[in-house]
Amino acid sequence: MRIRIGARTDVGQVRSHNEDRYLTDDPLFAVADGMGGHQGGEVASRIALETLGGLHRQDGDGLDLREAVRLANRAVLDRATRDQDLEGMGTTLTALRAEGSRVRLAHVGDSRAYLLRDRELRQLTEDHTLVHRMVQEGKLTQEEAEIHPHRSILTRALGVDPELTVDQGSQDVEPGDRILLCSDGLTSMVDEAGITDILAEHENPQSAADRLIDAANAAGGQDNITVLVLDFLDEAAGEAPAGAEGAPEPQRRGVRWWRLALWTLLVLVLLGGAALGTRAWIDTQWFVGTSEGGRVALYQGIPREVFGYRLYEPVEETDILAVEAATAARGWERLPEGITAGSEREAREVIEQIRRDIEAMEEDGPGP
Ligand code: MG
Repeated sequence: MRIRIGARTDVGQVRSHNEDRYLTDDPLFAVADGMGGHQGGEVASRIALETLGGLHRQDGDGLDLREAVRLANRAVLDRATRDQDLEGMGTTLTALRAEGSRVRLAHVGDSRAYLLRDRELRQLTEDHTLVHRMVQEGKLTQEEAEIHPHRSILTRALGVDPELTVDQGSQDVEPGDRILLCSDGLTSMVDEAGITDILAEHENPQSAADRLIDAANAAGGQDNITVLVLDFLDEAAGEAPAGAEGAPEPQRRGVRWWRLALWTLLVLVLLGGAALGTRAWIDTQWFVGTSEGGRVALYQGIPREVFGYRLYEPVEETDILAVEAATAARGWERLPEGITAGSEREAREVIEQIRRDIEAMEEDGPGP
């Protein structure tokens, strides 16, 4: 089967660096979402995908995808142990290899693979997150999980442990199928109904990828966003889809102008209300971060500076050392970037969770 590709990665609206990365080396495709202070996240996702790509070029059809992800994990760990600045870096990795009428998947973390068939979206991967585990255990509903302040805390990632459990799967594909690989910067901003609509509406995979990124940014773009759209086409179909796609263009262009007008109006309204609205909105936001004294602290606002102007104010400094928090549990290494919460109460819950994790570490020694 022939594959038509749409791909894009974007820094989003809040982060200063893009730590996401993707690989398109037909028939191998992958998305990696890096994390870790300094340049760690960018380095981790780059090493993971370079290792995977290198093994693919070396082994070709003989590539063992799961083993390749394990080797990528070792490569990230090796680099982290050699360079103190990169200690604690990690990355997700969701990789897909097309083999005729089926695809193989290898997956670690909270990036996702979806199949769109007959306008229905089905998730092919399982999130390795704390909240997903809590949903499975019946402690949270799916709806609560999607807005939970801890939703980005991973239970599995590359760069943590030399022995990594890698999920493996396979899926039959038919002509007309569309597969989406994406980082959580998309799925935390746009719900599955929204993703389905965009994928079903845009026949060109690059347009679909572009619109998904636009939607995540319009919803706040709180994280880096990466999207790969893979269309599986009949080999014999030749270039026919391009012609078919041209046909409804006049109508589509009409729709686009209408949309452009709406967007322009929206932007003007937003700019008009920006001075008052933004400030009022910022005052309702909370996050947990690191104080100048290196302690875990509660902040009001959003963890960002604009033209040197801070969009946050410290509210309370705790006695918890940030370095201690970072080693207590996976996820807390993101403290320097700020862990956002929906309310003051949720932010204080995050601090209590950090306290409990440190207590648990002191009792049990460092976790796995
Ligand atoms: Mg992310």
